[in-house]
Order: sequence, then structure tokens, then C-alpha cells
Amino acid sequence: MCSPVIDFNACLRKRLVGLFEKASFLSHSCTPNAIVVVSPTNHRIEVIAGRPIFKGDPIYIDYDYTGDLRNRLEHRNFLTCNYFFNCKCTLCSDPTEMGLFLSGIICTKCKRRGRQGVIAPTDPLNMENSWQCRKCGFERTYAAVTKVVADATNMLGSSVGNYEQIVEKVRNSILPPFNTVVMQAELSTVKIFTNEDFQTTCKPDNKSVDFLKTAMRKRLDILELFYPSMDRRIGK
Ligand SMILES: [Zn+2]
Ligand SMILES: [Zn+2]
Repeated sequence: MCSPVIDFNACLRKRLVGLFEKASFLSHSCTPNAIVVVSPTNHRIEVIAGRPIFKGDPIYIDYDYTGDLRNRLEHRNFLTCNYFFNCKCTLCSDPTEMGLFLSGIICTKCKRRGRQGVIAPTDPLNMENSWQCRKCGFERTYAAVTKVVADATNMLGSSVGNYEQIVEKVRNSILPPFNTVVMQAELSTVKIFTNEDFQTTCKPDNKSVDFLKTAMRKRLDILELFYPSMDRRIGK
């Protein structure tokens, strides 16, 4: 009987589970303005503001700490399946996803004309509806967009040895630089470069080091834009 109440409202820290009466009412946002911290010594919960919160403003926390690099549709489906709501936060309601086009694909029509256009959902809260280039109006179906993203994902995962080149290729011609698939691939590449075994057998060259720095800077930029500064993902 009480299991769903625990599942949806409790805070989990190591082997302890705590149900906090007031904190359990905090709402979710993909760009939260607060974080929750449970003390490891007295097990009290603290809700800490991470941005200015004025009287009457809602306090938002992030329910999905692993979702920032997940495909946007998967991320929203995760919230729907696990918490039973359709997220309509600032980020989810914005067709440009704060100007970053996390789910967008490059417009081939604009590209042929030497322009840079990104195809994004016309209704971000119903991504299965039509998608359209923000610059030229070229329309793609959701199925077509999904196929482009799936092909790009396969291309990125097809060869670890050529990862860097593939990431560059996809980033410039198929998906915009902040698309979550590109960001995931960059992070996987960084993990390979920073792996101890890789570093002892294959010293990264200057190009690889530059790639690594750029990838990490991008990652930090996006985390700082979306989350309060003391969020554990930022690591300050
Ligand atoms: Zn959201
Ligand atoms: Zn276009």
C-alpha cells in the first residue's frame, strides 16, 4: 500500500530511505531553481535555492538526475512513465530548447543553400507532431526525424577508433552541436581519452586534447545553464 508513496516521494541515500512530508510536495523542472540535500550525519533534508527565488515563486527540483544527457523524448517519457506527468517546464515548452536544439536535426534544404537551419518540433509538448526548419520552414515528420537521429546514433557507435572523426562529421552535417546524441558521443570519447589504459598505450595528440577540452567546456556550459551552481553534476 505504501510502496508507491515511497517510490515517488522518498529520498534515497545509500541504504537509507527517508520520506519528508514538506519536501515531497516540491515540483519538478528540467531547469530547477533548487536542490535537495540530505545530511549524512543527522539525516535532515535541506532545500537549497540555487537561483534567486522571489516570494510566491514555485520551488522546483529535478526528479531525474540522470536525464540531462538522455534523448529529450526519452527524458520526457521517463518522467511520464515514472512520475505520471507530462513535463511542461520552460525547457520542455520551448521549441528551440533554450536556443540549444537538444533534439533538433540539421536542415538539409538550408545546408544545400549554404545556410544553417535546424529542424525542431512545431509543438514541443507533442513531439510526434510535425517538425519544421526554423529558418526555411521545411517540414519533416517525426518518423523521418527519428530515423535521422537513429542513423546518426549508429554511425557514432560504429567505430571507437574513428570516434573523433565521426563525432566531428555528425556534429557539423547531421545534428547540431548540442543535440544530446552528439553530447553523449563526445562524453564517450572523453571517457576513452581519459582512460588510464588508453593513456599508457596511446598518448593523445594535441588535436585530441583540444577536442577533449571543447567537449568538457560544452558539457559544463550546458550544466551551468540548466542547473543551480551547487548541483552535484557541476561538481563545484
Ligand atoms: Zn521539462
Ligand atoms: Zn531549412
